[in-house]
Amino acid sequence: MNVHNISLPTGLKIGAEWRYQGRADIPVYNPADESLLTHIAAANADDAKDAIDAASKGFAEWRKTSPRERAEILRRAYHLMQERKETIAQIITLEEGKTLNEARGEVNYASEFFRWFADQAVQMHDALSSAPNGDKAIMVTHHPVGIAYLVTPWNFPAAMATRKIAPALAAGCSVILKPATETPLTALYVATLLEEAGVPGDAVSVLSSKSAREISEVMFADERVRKVSFTGSTEVGRVLLHNAAERVVNSSMELGGNAPLLVLDDADFDTAVEQTLMAKIRNAGESCIAANRIFVARSLYTTFSEALAEKMAALKMGDGRDEDVDIGPLVNRDTQQKVASLVDDAVSRGANLLTGGVMPDGNGYFYPPTVLNDIPAGAEILETEIFGPVAVIIPFDDEDAVIEEANNTIFGLAAYVMSSDTVHAVSVAKRLEAGVVGINKGVISDPAAPFGGMKQSGLGREGGYVGIGEFTETQYIGLDWPGSPA
Ligand code: NAD
Repeated sequence: MNVHNISLPTGLKIGAEWRYQGRADIPVYNPADESLLTHIAAANADDAKDAIDAASKGFAEWRKTSPRERAEILRRAYHLMQERKETIAQIITLEEGKTLNEARGEVNYASEFFRWFADQAVQMHDALSSAPNGDKAIMVTHHPVGIAYLVTPWNFPAAMATRKIAPALAAGCSVILKPATETPLTALYVATLLEEAGVPGDAVSVLSSKSAREISEVMFADERVRKVSFTGSTEVGRVLLHNAAERVVNSSMELGGNAPLLVLDDADFDTAVEQTLMAKIRNAGESCIAANRIFVARSLYTTFSEALAEKMAALKMGDGRDEDVDIGPLVNRDTQQKVASLVDDAVSRGANLLTGGVMPDGNGYFYPPTVLNDIPAGAEILETEIFGPVAVIIPFDDEDAVIEEANNTIFGLAAYVMSSDTVHAVSVAKRLEAGVVGINKGVISDPAAPFGGMKQSGLGREGGYVGIGEFTETQYIGLDWPGSPA
């Protein structure tokens, strides 16, 4: 398959070796028209073992490089992603469905992880201090944790991969990436850019697979794999945590969400509508931090519902490759049908449908921007991660009660607060059980910020100053050094 005259890799990257290029094990489809894009090769257990052998050699080589050398290679990876932005954006749109404009935004976000962690690679602070009783010096150093097994979802095929690869490489780890079966092409292409940037071939492997479980079994059984970093559903995250328990594998988990968005009665109306739209509609709602439950102060409830419905109805849905399209298809038939059944269930129970709600005929996994309010208790849509372009609006009268309701979920990834009084907004944000909170901002992800969830939304943080720490071990060396070490 060619994009911009570049022949895309479709095989496995087992360390420095590209294997099974051209083998047709797994079909990859364009969700906008259901056409077959290409096939890719699938890894089996033997390939996974070979990837660990390669990663072991890659780790021995890569960990010896200086932080400065790693930083410069990562910075080259950033520039290469920027140079190839249009190509990567095309690949993302073709296999995932989001609009080209959003795909370009994803490439910017994804590439920034290389730039951010290039800076972090040379900022790892080792330390030397005196024990309070003066009997020794306390030396603290950091080591790369080892071979990292990275598992990513389909919704941001570039960014979810680089958010893990960049800190892992910055720390000196080698990586084995298992991308989602729906969107392997982006990850495979990014892997070629890493080679081009100068990352040793053995330090990065990419294994697509028909059976994630088979690959995971090999990874968790091998003593040399010391880290798992997973982004995906809480359900699969729990399985991986069980697997990791056997050998106590260092685990980072970025899991599902059920983000509340609170429009307080002192919100600036236009800002609240605009930012709610952004928090809902990015990637057609297929985002772990999408606003899932929109709580609106009773005084604004009706006008807000109508204004949001008007904006949602005005969005142009279509093939993401058309530059004037605002919202692309969902990723696959299952996701489309799940969204449709959540809306149908709510409407059949008496919810008020302000716009959308009807699945279009024809090819492609489209679902229209939809707004629901007056949703009766018991509707499944109030409890579930929707993962689609459906805004669920719920009125509230009492701030304490709505904060309690917002927190009444096993998830704790993102939340949003709309208020024109910053002190008020921050005081509400602090009471929300969410790892990430946006105030008057519907799009908040940033490589420089720590991203991750509380409760069953995850363990650990990606990005920010702490992201590299997820891929290091801290070592304390007690030195017999009576008196001050200085
Ligand atoms: P998923 O959990 O079904 O799959 C994620 C990845 O795990 C895929 O690569 C899949 O092949 C793999 N997988 C499945 N079973 C596995 C196993 N036994 N061993 C190893 N890998 C396995 O999730 P999805 O449908 O791809 O993505 C949607 C979910 O991801 C949503 O719940 C969303 O909230 C979550 N998500 C979270 C974040 C975050 O940062 N917290 C970001 C994006 C998506």
